[in-house]
Amino acid sequence: MHTFVSDGSMSIDEIIEKAKQRDVKIVAITDHNRLDTWEEFKEKAAKEGLIPIRGVEINTKHKDKVLHLLAYGFNDDEGLFGLIDQANREMKRRNHDLLEHLARDYEEISIEGYRAYNYNRRKLGWKLPHYMLDRGVVSTLPETFPYYRKYPCNFGLYDFPALGELCVAIKGAGGYSVLAHPSEYYGDLGREDLVKVLKGIREEGVQGIECYYPSHSKLMTETCLAFCKEHGMLITVGGDEHGGLPREGKPDKSIGCMHKRRDEVDIEVLLEGAGDSPR
Ligand SMILES: [Zn+2]
Repeated sequence: MHTFVSDGSMSIDEIIEKAKQRDVKIVAITDHNRLDTWEEFKEKAAKEGLIPIRGVEINTKHKDKVLHLLAYGFNDDEGLFGLIDQANREMKRRNHDLLEHLARDYEEISIEGYRAYNYNRRKLGWKLPHYMLDRGVVSTLPETFPYYRKYPCNFGLYDFPALGELCVAIKGAGGYSVLAHPSEYYGDLGREDLVKVLKGIREEGVQGIECYYPSHSKLMTETCLAFCKEHGMLITVGGDEHGGLPREGKPDKSIGCMHKRRDEVDIEVLLEGAGDSPR
C-alpha cells in the first residue's frame, strides 16, 4: 500500500482505518523509494491491533528493464538505505529532465512555475503530471506517460541500483526481497518465456514473488505460484492500494481486494525474520 509520502492519496491513519473496515489484519506500507512512514505506522498499527510489516518498493535495473522490488522486514542498514536513496535520486533526476525539456517546448511550463506550483499531495500520483494537467499541456493524467518517451527520459537511461546488488543489501539488512507485480513487465509472455525470466530474477537473489495481484492473469498467477513452490521462494500478495476510486476498466486495488488468508501466503516468514517488526 502507498501513502501520500509517495504517489498514494491516503495518510497512515486512513490506511489503518480502511484496513480495519476491510478486516485486513497484516499490513505493509511500501512507499516508492521512501522509508519515512515506518516509525509512525508501526506505533499506530500496533495500537489499533494490526500487525505491521516494514516495507518499501524500490526501482531497480535488471537487463533492459527497470523493475519494482519490494523489500520486507528489514532492519536499519546504511548499505540498503544508500541504495534506496540512489533510486529516489534517480527518479527525481528523471523528473527534472522531463521538466527541463517541457519548459523549452511549452510556454505554459517553467522550472520556477513548477517549484512554486502548490501540489496537493492528496491528489494521487506525482507532482509533475498534475502540473502538466493544470497547465493544460494534457487533458488527462495518463496522457502524460508518453512524454517520458517523447523526450529522452526513459527509465533505462538512469542509474537505478542493480537487482543483484539490491538483493544482497536487503538480505544483509535481515529483510526479504520480493518481485512486485510481474505482470507489469512480463504480462505479454507465454508460460515458457515467463519461467525463463523468473529464473533470471531468481539467479540475481530475489527471494519471493508477488504471485497474487489484482491485474494478474490466471496464467501469471499459476506460473508464479508453481515457480515459487518448485524453488522454495516466498509467495506474497499485494493489493497495491494507492487511494482514490478504481479507474474505469482497471481492476480494484483497494485494501483487502485480494482476500488472501494468512495460510495462503508466506507471511509468517516475513514476520519471524524481521528484526525490527513485531513477531
Ligand atoms: Zn510498483
